[in-house]
Amino acid sequence: MNSYSDRSADWTTSVQPKYLKEYVIDSLPVLIWQSDVNGLYTYFNSSWIEFTGRPLEHEIGLGWMKSIHPEDYQRCFEFLQKHFKEKKSFEIEYRLQDSERKYRWMMGQGCPQYDSSGYYLGFIGYNIDVSDYKKHLDDLQMAKQAADAANIIKTEFLANVSHEIRSPMSIILGFAEIMRDENMSELERQDLLTRILRNGHQLLNIINDVLDVSKVEANKIEAESIQFSLYYLLQEIHELFDIKSQEKNLIFKINLSDSIPDLVKSDPTRIQQILTNLISNSIKFTNKGEVTLTVTSSPIENNKTYISFDVHDTGIGIAPEYQNKIFKPFGQVDATISRKYGGTGLGLFLSYRLAQVLGGQLALVKSQPNEGSTFQFRIPVEVAEASPPVQLTLTHHLSKKSPLYGIKILIVDDAEENRLLFNRFFSQTGAHVESASNGEIAIQMCQQNKYDIILTDIKMPGMDGYTVLKKIRQFDSKTPIVALTAHALTTEKDKCLQEGFSEHITKPVNRQSLISQVTKILQKKTSK
Ligand code: ADP
Repeated sequence: MNSYSDRSADWTTSVQPKYLKEYVIDSLPVLIWQSDVNGLYTYFNSSWIEFTGRPLEHEIGLGWMKSIHPEDYQRCFEFLQKHFKEKKSFEIEYRLQDSERKYRWMMGQGCPQYDSSGYYLGFIGYNIDVSDYKKHLDDLQMAKQAADAANIIKTEFLANVSHEIRSPMSIILGFAEIMRDENMSELERQDLLTRILRNGHQLLNIINDVLDVSKVEANKIEAESIQFSLYYLLQEIHELFDIKSQEKNLIFKINLSDSIPDLVKSDPTRIQQILTNLISNSIKFTNKGEVTLTVTSSPIENNKTYISFDVHDTGIGIAPEYQNKIFKPFGQVDATISRKYGGTGLGLFLSYRLAQVLGGQLALVKSQPNEGSTFQFRIPVEVAEASPPVQLTLTHHLSKKSPLYGIKILIVDDAEENRLLFNRFFSQTGAHVESASNGEIAIQMCQQNKYDIILTDIKMPGMDGYTVLKKIRQFDSKTPIVALTAHALTTEKDKCLQEGFSEHITKPVNRQSLISQVTKILQKKTSK
C-alpha cells in the first residue's frame, strides 16, 4: 500500500483511466467509508486503513467502532444508529485510535446514497483528523479565559490604585489649600506639613510600585552588587519604622544575632525596598502588640553568607486558604480587608520577585488568623574583607558620623525650591553643599572648585543637563555627575547612563533615599 508521500505527482500518466476514480479516492488524505442499507460498513479507503493500522477485515461491518474512544463510544453509536435509521445526513466529532494507539479527534460527515431510480443504497462518508485544529481552539479558549480573568483582576486593580492615589492626593491638596487660606499657629502648620509629606511619600510609593511591576513583568530588573553597610541600612529602617509604629502604639524592634557582618556586597536599594514592604505590611495589619525584625546569618562557603530577615507581627494574620494568593500580582486576601486597610496588592508580588533577582527567597513562614504572621526574606551576600561582626546596639550607631561628612556637593537646578530642598536634605549629613541656577554658572564653578559629586537637573532653560555633563567632561573626567530628573521611565534612565551620567536619580526623592543613593555612588567610586 502506498503512503501519502510515496504517491507520485505524475499519476495522470501512470494510472490507467479505468482505475483513476479508485486511485483518487485512495489517495485523498481523508478517511472515506461506505455502508450498506443496514448501516454496516462495507468499504474503507487506503487512508483509513493506513490511519488505523488495522486490516480491512477487522474494520468491516461494525468492527471499526472498537477503535472509538470509550468515552465517545455510546454517544457515537446512538447517534449513527439514529441517523442511519432516519436516512439523514450527519456531522459528528469523536476520538478514534490511530496506528500508534493514540486517540485523534475526527470530524466525520455522512450522507445517504440513492441510485438513479431513487432506491436507497446506504451511506457514504468521510472523516478528517481535526486534532491539531481542536488543540488550537482549546489553546485559544484557555488564552481567552486567562485574558478575561486578567482583565477582571486589572479592572479591580485599577479601581484599587485610583482609590489609593486619590486618598493621599485629596489630603495633600486639601491641607495645602488650608495652609494657603487660613491663619494658623506654627504648631498647626508643622502638623499639616507632616501630614502632607507623609501622604506625598505614600503616593510616590504607589507610583514606584506600579513602575516596578511593569519592569518585573518585562524581566527588566537587574540586581546591583555594591559594597554597603548592612548596619547603616538597618539603622535607616529603624528610624523610619520607629516613628510609624509609635503612631499606632505598636512596639518595633530589631534583633540582631551576634555574627552579622557589617560590610557586605549586594543590592542595598532592593533589600531596603523588600524590608520596607514587609514591615509596612506588618504595621498596617497589626492593631495591637509588636512588629519585630530579626536578622541572622549562616555562612555558606568562602566569603559568602546567608542573611535572613524575619519579619514577625502580632496582627490579623492570613487564613490558610489565602496564603498562596498573596504573592501573586494584585493578590489581596479579600475585598473587605483591602477596603479596610487599603493597598494595591503589588507589594508582596514585587518583593517576592525582587528576592529572586537577588538570588534569595521570600516566604510566608507562619500565619494564624488573629495571632500574627512571620515572613522570611533570605539572601546570599558576599562579606567584604575585614568586616567586623556587628555587635553595636542600634542606639550606639546613631551617633556614628554620616558617610557624607565633609563631602563637597554641587547642585545644578533652575528651580529655586529644588535647590533649597536638596540643600536642606544634605544639611544634617555634614556635607558641604553649593548650588548653581543654570548650566553656565555650574561650569564656571566646576572650573574654579573641586567637587566630590555633582547633581544636575536635565530639563533646564538654556543649557540642559546633557550639555552640562559634556562640557564638564571636557576638563574633568572623574567627578561623578548624577542626573536628577522627574522621569522615572527606564528609557530615560538608560539614556542618561548611555550619555555618561554616573547615575540617574528620580525626583521626587526623599531625604533618606537621596542620602543613601549619593553615599552608594561615592562608595562605588572609591571602591573602583
Ligand atoms: P497590599 O498593598 O494590599 O498590602 P501586598 O502585596 O503587600 O499588597 O499584600 C497582599 C495582601 O497580603 C494584603 O492585602 C493582605 O491581605 C495580606 N498581607 C500581607 N502582609 C500581611 C501581614 N503582615 N498580616 C496580614 N496580612 C498580610
